[in-house]
Amino acid sequence: MEKADIKSMSLLELTDFVTHLGEKGFRGKQLYQWMHEKLSPSIDDMTNLPAGFREKLKEECIYTLLRQKDVQVSKDGTKKYLFLLQDGNAVESVLMRYKFGNSLCISSQAGCRMGCRFCASTLEGLVRNLTPSEMLEQVYQITRDTGERVSHVVVMGTGEPLDNFDNLLRFIELLTGEGGQNLSQRNVTVSTCGLVPKIRELAEKKLQITLALSLHAPNQEKRRELMPVANKYELSSVIDACKTYVELTGRRITFEYSLVAGANDSPEDAKELADLIKGINCHVNLIPVNPIKERNYKRPKGEAVQGFKNKLEKYGINVTIRREMGQDIDGACGQLRKKYMERQG
Ligand code: SAH
Repeated sequence: MEKADIKSMSLLELTDFVTHLGEKGFRGKQLYQWMHEKLSPSIDDMTNLPAGFREKLKEECIYTLLRQKDVQVSKDGTKKYLFLLQDGNAVESVLMRYKFGNSLCISSQAGCRMGCRFCASTLEGLVRNLTPSEMLEQVYQITRDTGERVSHVVVMGTGEPLDNFDNLLRFIELLTGEGGQNLSQRNVTVSTCGLVPKIRELAEKKLQITLALSLHAPNQEKRRELMPVANKYELSSVIDACKTYVELTGRRITFEYSLVAGANDSPEDAKELADLIKGINCHVNLIPVNPIKERNYKRPKGEAVQGFKNKLEKYGINVTIRREMGQDIDGACGQLRKKYMERQG
């Protein structure tokens, strides 16, 4: 029988689980508190649980922890962590320090199968989904390491979160629910390359999280060049799903747009983009592409980026250029993990 992953369980499931082990129901709540509120690094620390019960838990459960393999610290205070999962897979998380708090970018999968052309995380394909506890532990381990609360979480690291839908939802429930770290849903952002049915399913949940949609192109042809997922879901249906998301949740949506020199950064592209999204309660985040050595994509010059922004503003679109953090430490998505895997291979 597979061992139970107790850190991925809801309080209700956990209560049920401990009852089956012959314990009183309230032990479930105590255990929950040790894991999600006190961020206990081991079952042995859970001193108000009977010793026999702790032994039983150690025998019968998985107690997810991540091994901190490497930390790179940038001049701007950004920290990039490389973690080893219990099966030896590696994931990375990035902690950014802002005036408003500590924002953590976490991974949702080991690898990715979406194939975006400019992205390092997808070059080797998908290895596996992360469990809710493995997503949580990125937050928990970094909180232990820094001694500082993580106030914002963005699911924008390696992986496509909506391709790991149920685990993502459980992760959000545990992260934002009472009795754990109790983050505000408004401080959680989920970024997707545009899996239309899943965007609609998420909208139905009416969570107060922010959805970020990786757009990267102003029309279907250009989007297909950069993102194979566009072969599956037409741009028009992606935009429709985004409109539904805004309608059902009342939340403003973020469009992410990685600027690639000569591919999607012309004034005409800006105009077409503005036409595509006008009228949607949205915000555009421009990110000059982070070149990876496997592909020949280049970032536009500073003036071109500023020009693109100005043009969008002229058309009344809300837009910011993403402040780039940690440029000196393997900035691009998935590069630290990839380097590590190459050394191992
Ligand atoms: N799969 C999700 C989340 C992970 S990627 C998604 O596609 O949204 C997070 C964001 O970083 C996406 O907008 C992605 O397109 C972008 N990204 C990936 N590699 C990049 C690179 N080399 N330069 C700039 N942006 C990149």
